[in-house]
Amino acid sequence: MEESAYIGLGSNLGDREGALLSAVAELGRIPGTRVTALSRFYVTEPVGPVAQENFYNAAARVATALDPFELLAHLKRIETEVFRREPTVHWGPRTLDLDILIFGDWVVDSAELTIPHPRLFERRFALQPLADIAPDLMHPVLGKTVAELLAALKGSERVEAL
Ligand code: AMP
Repeated sequence: MEESAYIGLGSNLGDREGALLSAVAELGRIPGTRVTALSRFYVTEPVGPVAQENFYNAAARVATALDPFELLAHLKRIETEVFRREPTVHWGPRTLDLDILIFGDWVVDSAELTIPHPRLFERRFALQPLADIAPDLMHPVLGKTVAELLAALKGSERVEAL
């Protein structure tokens, strides 16, 4: 059985647009997994205390036969093997960051994995791209759609389509 999963992509080091494009290609090479939608690319102001370059962010939908833990293992492999992401300061710059935002109706709360992603729904840089491809997607815990959550966001971080 296939599930629809939504993946957040971010990069703020080096060739950021190239990193996102390569990541989308790599997502399509994960066994049992197809990329079925891709948002626009956004330039966003970094969140948090560390001074750094702007982020490029996007969201992708995949159809996958994997479970969330198997999918996460592939995302980590893509982050490290493919992009040689070095361990960096928390909140600091990274070549590529891949997060599982939503995985079907799954609710997971383990040490390794939390789904839906716990901080997504207070972050414009994640919600805005997700709204491109899934405005009516229902958050399985909050019971609100992505469009509703985006409309309810306070704050004014700059998130602009490329
Ligand atoms: P970060 O360095 O902020 O990208 O955090 C990566 C770690 O967060 C990974 O090693 C995962 O085990 C953990 N994690 C927890 N929930 C998720 C999720 N929904 N998607 C991706 N990583 C997650």
